[in-house]
Amino acid sequence: MPQASANDLHFPPPRLPDEVTALRAEVRAFLANSLAADAWQPNSDFGAGFAPEFSRQIAAKGWIGMTWPKDYGGHGRSNLERYVVTEELLAAGAPVFAHWIADRQSGPLLLRFGSEAQRQTLLPRIAAGECFFSIGMSEPDSGSDLASVRTLAERTPAGWRLNGAKVWTSNAHLNHFMITLCRTGEAGEDRHGGLSQFLIDLQQDGVTINPIVNMLGTHEFNEVVFDDVEIPEDRLIGQEGDGWRQVTSELAYERSGPERFLSNFHIFRTLIDAIGPEPDARQAEAIGRLTGRLWTLRRMSLSVAAMLEAGESPDVEAAIVKELGNRFEREVVETSRAVYAVQPATSPGGNAADFPALMAEAILRQPSFTLRGGTTEIMRSIIARGLGLR
Ligand SMILES: Cc1cc2nc3c(=O)[nH]c(=O)nc-3n(C[C@H](O)[C@H](O)[C@H](O)COP(=O)(O)OP(=O)(O)OC[C@H]3O[C@@H](n4cnc5c(N)ncnc54)[C@H](O)[C@@H]3O)c2cc1C
Repeated sequence: MPQASANDLHFPPPRLPDEVTALRAEVRAFLANSLAADAWQPNSDFGAGFAPEFSRQIAAKGWIGMTWPKDYGGHGRSNLERYVVTEELLAAGAPVFAHWIADRQSGPLLLRFGSEAQRQTLLPRIAAGECFFSIGMSEPDSGSDLASVRTLAERTPAGWRLNGAKVWTSNAHLNHFMITLCRTGEAGEDRHGGLSQFLIDLQQDGVTINPIVNMLGTHEFNEVVFDDVEIPEDRLIGQEGDGWRQVTSELAYERSGPERFLSNFHIFRTLIDAIGPEPDARQAEAIGRLTGRLWTLRRMSLSVAAMLEAGESPDVEAAIVKELGNRFEREVVETSRAVYAVQPATSPGGNAADFPALMAEAILRQPSFTLRGGTTEIMRSIIARGLGLR
């Protein structure tokens, strides 16, 4: 008996409050000024720009921890206001990745499940752009099937002892903390029991961070090995054994934002600039088709943000936006190659005058879009289950 059907899917038209328009203008003006001052170069993937100084500037504007309570260094603003800020940062290709994970998911996770002491010590530092987080989910044999993680935390008189390894950990070599999912007990019949989350100091004894060089030849992610890492009791996040519920709520934050279709928007904008004001028929058709898809995705994504603001849990709608959005991002790269002939060439850069360098980078980054944050097949499986089709 299906639990839901396609009729239950809904993307209600979002209504943006007036203050959002003024905020958008403020973000645009800030970004235009800082770009003009040569503070950064637009990037071809939002995950590529790690710039702590830029993150501190964003924090000083009140744009990190925007929705969190003021008592924890936040700014008490709405999800839709936060949406507008993230959308503008992504559209500009700004170097946001230093603070992105902490702002998007680690902070909200601590706010919801963390102890009062964890909230008070960490959230104000995150909101100030001073404290950056990694995601410790994937392992050498556990990616899509996250419930199979084998990193083990065992009880000791003073807390816990951690052994195991995480992999593909973005920026573990640059960040301060990792929130790690590990096994603390028996999995039980549904395989979701016995998991817990811990706050790990990445500088701590027993933590070894080994670089993994990606196809571009750059060091962005890592293998992180835990060898008898002693964890004090107060580093457990939430309840022992409640890790599955906690991590799935974290994944909802990870998957639902506009970075799932805007992460390489700069390439699309650069393509249009490179083609210029007189596109041929094929180029005009391609730009028009991509623009139409982009606008539809934006409308759907905003609708998800509005539902989150209203306290709903639009998990299936968010998975649909991610699945369609990631395919769109790959299509931006493929279409650019098809309608604008350049010989991709690796050299630093990334503006309209340097389209070959941008394309060389984009082609090598493109496969990661449908992997990170959950693969296409996993998104489709969530959608199918949500619709009662499996
Ligand atoms: C750029 C980048 C950054 C990342 N950063 C982080 C990070 O910071 N922290 C972190 O924890 N992880 C990170 N990851 C890892 C990412 O979450 C995993 O790569 C992803 O979840 C897939 O897991 P896997 O690589 O083990 O592939 P697998 O799970 O082994 O999947 C391999 C293939 O099999 C398919 N497949 C698997 N199971 C099923 C199924 N049940 N039904 C149908 N098809 C299936 C998948 O869709 C995929 O195509 C990052 C990945 C990338 C690319």
